[in-house]
Amino acid sequence: NENGGGGANVTPMMAQYHALKAEAQDCLLFYRMGDFFELFFDDAKIASACLDIALTSRGDGVPMCGVPAHSAEGYLARLIKAGHRVAIADQTETPAEAKKRGGSKALVGRAIVRVVTAGTLTEEALLDARAANWLVALAEAGGQIGLAAADISTGRFELAAIPAGSLDAELARLGAAETIAADGFAFAPADAISQDPRAFDSTAGEARLKALFGVATLDSFGGFGRAELAAAAGLLAYLDRAGQGKLPFLQPPARRHPADHMLIDAATRDSLELTQAQGGGRKGSLLDAVDRTVTGAGARMLAADIGAPLAERLVIEARLDLVTRFVDDGGLRESIRTNLKAAPDIGRAIGRLVAGRGSPRDLGLLRDGLDEAHGLHERLLRLGDRPALLDQLLPQMRGHGALIDLLTRALVPQPPIDTAQGGYIAEGYDPALDDLRGQGGEGRRAIAALEARYREATGITSLKIRHNGVLGYHIEVQAKHADPLMRPESGFTHRQTLAGVVRFNAPDLHEQALRVGQAGAHALAAEAAHLEELVAAALACKTAIAATADALARLDVAAGLAERAIEGHWCRPAFAEEPCFEVEGGRHPVVEAAVTATGERFVANDCQLLPDRRLWLVTGPNMGGKSTFLRQNALIAVLAQAGGYVPAASARLGLVDRLFSRVGASDNLARGRSTFMVEMVETAAILAQATERSLVILDEVGRGTSTYDGLAIAWAVVEAVHDINRCRCLFATHYHELTRLAERLDALSLHHVRAREWKGDLVLLHELADGPADRSYGIAVAKLAGLPPAVLGRAQSVLAKLESGRAATGGIAAGLDDLPLFAAAAAAPPPPVDPLREALDAILPDALSPRDALDALYRLKTLA
Ligand code: ADP
Repeated sequence: NENGGGGANVTPMMAQYHALKAEAQDCLLFYRMGDFFELFFDDAKIASACLDIALTSRGDGVPMCGVPAHSAEGYLARLIKAGHRVAIADQTETPAEAKKRGGSKALVGRAIVRVVTAGTLTEEALLDARAANWLVALAEAGGQIGLAAADISTGRFELAAIPAGSLDAELARLGAAETIAADGFAFAPADAISQDPRAFDSTAGEARLKALFGVATLDSFGGFGRAELAAAAGLLAYLDRAGQGKLPFLQPPARRHPADHMLIDAATRDSLELTQAQGGGRKGSLLDAVDRTVTGAGARMLAADIGAPLAERLVIEARLDLVTRFVDDGGLRESIRTNLKAAPDIGRAIGRLVAGRGSPRDLGLLRDGLDEAHGLHERLLRLGDRPALLDQLLPQMRGHGALIDLLTRALVPQPPIDTAQGGYIAEGYDPALDDLRGQGGEGRRAIAALEARYREATGITSLKIRHNGVLGYHIEVQAKHADPLMRPESGFTHRQTLAGVVRFNAPDLHEQALRVGQAGAHALAAEAAHLEELVAAALACKTAIAATADALARLDVAAGLAERAIEGHWCRPAFAEEPCFEVEGGRHPVVEAAVTATGERFVANDCQLLPDRRLWLVTGPNMGGKSTFLRQNALIAVLAQAGGYVPAASARLGLVDRLFSRVGASDNLARGRSTFMVEMVETAAILAQATERSLVILDEVGRGTSTYDGLAIAWAVVEAVHDINRCRCLFATHYHELTRLAERLDALSLHHVRAREWKGDLVLLHELADGPADRSYGIAVAKLAGLPPAVLGRAQSVLAKLESGRAATGGIAAGLDDLPLFAAAAAAPPPPVDPLREALDAILPDALSPRDALDALYRLKTLA
């Protein structure tokens, strides 16, 4: 009884439902019934609220709601976006098959065929074409944290061993759609999904990886530690469950070394709005201001590049050389971009095919994309004066001739997504298929001819032959003409009487209809068999196809960066060995766009951090441009190390190992989460982690508390950054008193944003000048903001009183000059963090096997 029915007894259908639901406790269960997916009980309540569809109830009072199977994707997308996971229980047989198997009362067999989660999507409609979709698994083994990350929409697969202190930065870089961790894992982020720890077994993970990639040892992929293998095991187990045994596309794992990249923690990413603006979304981010890529794959790669700037000069220069080649040759850049624009997203197409969710259309995309790659390859091969990176990319772009040829011969120009109607295999590919189609065509022509014959024989000129899903081909006449055809000797058989029309069958028609039907069914089966072969042929090349997709994306990124550089008159950064940071005419790409959009001019500013003046203290009125100046320099460092040109007239920098940016609390209050406490926690993290090679940006630190506290904290932080971290630092503050530190800290230099009062009004020049600001202009800014004249007048007299008090006592910072120097004052200043020492401390010799000890030695060498 499919519909369950009423009564207190649990019907077989509900029993089946409960059994399936028990397999997927943590998911909403989509239970297939005919043309619908139905949800029951609490699932129905959740889904109906989330999807805004009607909640009904069955005869027995069980709440239910349903979505049509053919449009389920859109509903799935909304449930996944809202943070749900969905298990899909589909019918594994037709009702007819069930009857044949178990009699007329038999229940249709159902099974969970897939678990849909945010991190395991491959559907085009559910994914953002321009963003990666990471699933991350975290595990701990042998005192290390292992991180496994997979973007199964393109097969990217990374493993890394992460020091606990860098985990936050790594997770922020990936921005995972879904994170899983073994139950009890100490460093799990708040949104991580807990999993059975037994799934995170390093030995099983190693065996699994070897089997998956058909290798006897994993050394060729980089050789992984136990933590990485454990994380991989957890990831694979999760993917197994999502695909119910069918594993999606995974390329061989790439080993990530966190030290290969500039370390940028989550707070810094937020505050600099690298790939996401603070309101959420891409608009207003650095990525958005830089991105001129023309393909989804290019956009994904650029986002990854900006999210993880490089730390190795040779690799950066190689990327820059390619960008320069495209900057210098506009014709080349234009034509490459035109070609790329026409190339479909082959990375995601192969991802869908491997996951078993591919369609003829995906094969068509591969054919067209690989063909574009082939054309580009020919073109670039003829190019003289090729940068080294291009020579590395070229071999990845060729070698698909046989597959392109096969797909070109086999497929129609625009293959459909849906296979049910057939018609995707091209004519001339398979003579037997052509023959079947020919027979079908002949049958249809014969049926058309029958219509004329029947009209003539019956004398009914309005007689028609029609087709529908229930009766198939049939003869239709108006009711008033039907009587003669009802007689047995007429040769017609009555099928159906409706209001106004009567329908008949006839032997000739029946015969031709059978012929059309059979030919059609055989043709469909033949097409399906070809599809299977073609998919297999594509899958055999999946790794090479993924490499081609990467090569195209890299070209797109380089050409897009070149385009942006030309558009904005950006320059190629130069790199120096010493930790300097020298920018002439630097600009902030996001603020510049906003300012010029209102018809104003953006003022470019220089920045010169050198070993003997590495800490710049920037003062000046609010709204004067301090934050903008600070951030633009951080963004220039990010862009330069990502391998791009920078918004400046010239730039020369020593590589930055870690980048930090913090904004004083009150700036963030609007976001309702940053408090003075958070500001201090974050500042503490900087003081603990910044090295001599780091770049630190502190904007109004100390502002989130009372004047005295704030000044005291800002004062001490500046001293610590100067004396202990010794990093390059830009420090913006409205505490004028801090400028006194210049007398004692020799690498501190004073700067201010210029402002002028003109006819009683404040003019902000947004221009940086040497030396401290002459005054604070707070009341002038308030006037600019439209504070009423009476309030302004009152403020003016209060200020005068305060200032006369200050003149008498020497101000709130009076006496600070007599404080002993920071290093002497602090009893035991915390030493800067030394990763080597940290790693050494983490080793417990007694717990190590000889093999582990050797591994540990190698690890230590990499840190030295
Ligand atoms: P502050 O940090 O000193 O309060 P901001 O950096 O937030 O000031 O700048 C305030 C506003 O001034 C920006 O939103 C922008 O409109 C404008 N501005 C900042 N820097 C410049 C510049 N270099 N050229 C032109 N306008 C600028």
